[in-house]
Amino acid sequence: MGPEMRIYLDHNATTPVRPEVVDAMTGVLRAEFGNPSSVYEEGAAARTRVEAARTEVARLVGAKPLDVRFTAGATEANNTLLFGLLGAGDHVVTSTVEHPSIDEPLARLERGGVAVTRVPCDGQGCVSAEAVAQAIREDTKLVSIIWANNETGALQPVEEVAALARERDVLMHSDATQALGKAPVDLSRVPLDFLSASAHKLGGPKGAGALVARGDRKLPAYLQGGGQERGLRGGTENVAGIVGFGVACGLAEKDLSARVEANRDLRNRLWRGLQSEVGDVRWNGDPERLLSNTLNVEFEGLPGEVLVQALDLAGVAVSAGAACHSGSIEPSKVLTAMGRTPEQARASLRLSVGWGVDASQVDRAVALLAELIPKIRSAEAP
Ligand code: PMP
Repeated sequence: MGPEMRIYLDHNATTPVRPEVVDAMTGVLRAEFGNPSSVYEEGAAARTRVEAARTEVARLVGAKPLDVRFTAGATEANNTLLFGLLGAGDHVVTSTVEHPSIDEPLARLERGGVAVTRVPCDGQGCVSAEAVAQAIREDTKLVSIIWANNETGALQPVEEVAALARERDVLMHSDATQALGKAPVDLSRVPLDFLSASAHKLGGPKGAGALVARGDRKLPAYLQGGGQERGLRGGTENVAGIVGFGVACGLAEKDLSARVEANRDLRNRLWRGLQSEVGDVRWNGDPERLLSNTLNVEFEGLPGEVLVQALDLAGVAVSAGAACHSGSIEPSKVLTAMGRTPEQARASLRLSVGWGVDASQVDRAVALLAELIPKIRSAEAP
């Protein structure tokens, strides 16, 4: 099936690159090949482009351009921060619903003598600011709480936690990868010290992102080399990627509230359709505390991975609440942290809308789900 016919409902995995981003990046790739560190005209032109992008990213997150350091995405930003800041004897407070690019570095640091407290979430995937504050100790160096979860869209009380961490003089980081471009992220209001972001979740290219460190805070380099990004990240800048990130942030800044509302309408239409056309469906999350584009739903007893494949063949892209690794089904850690059983996690789907999705596509996806689910159920019945 041609890409134009497909219905892409997995915007939390990645997003279509906006045409304005493609145009800007193509222009750079074709004609502006300079190295931003070079002192002559080509270098200066590339430097100007990188710094203009830095200003756009900073504006979208309510920070200063100097606070923004470009990375190759959010995984790198998270690793840079955690390995740069934490060492044996430090304590860190985090949650049970973080992305693997927080979880796995923390597990490694834990083996090296960092103490980690993982604050549990409620049945809707949210942590309480109070519980996070209570986990702070004398030796706590950092609190790191995801802004919005990639699987469920659950929004965490980042503003409240940041205020409590600030009161206790503890540094605070948030992985805002899923929130940027989908919800307001404004560091002029939220007293965070560090934030991670990635371009490809908001219409930009893959392989570009940022670690925002407020107050131009010094961190050791994770990648050592040429001292780029004011010493944080050695390596010649991904100029085209950075330019694309800047354009994507500029677009998000212009129409964020319209985007949030359009996503909410589509997502709610999807939910109403599933309730009326499919039935026996449960929403994994609290609609009042979610990204407006995300719907994680459980269809009782259904093998989610079979449904994902059937939908793919029918032209619809979605994610399952379980991942298949070398033949065995791994239930989602996020859903199990929310108290779901492995079977319930396996029966869950993540649907996430965004730019390019319209109401007729949503209706078509609902009709396909209504057709496929009873078939899969009867094929699976013993
Ligand atoms: N954090 C979150 C919350 C994410 O959703 C993702 C992407 N799945 C990442 C980090 C990693 O981002 P990147 O792909 O840019 O490394």
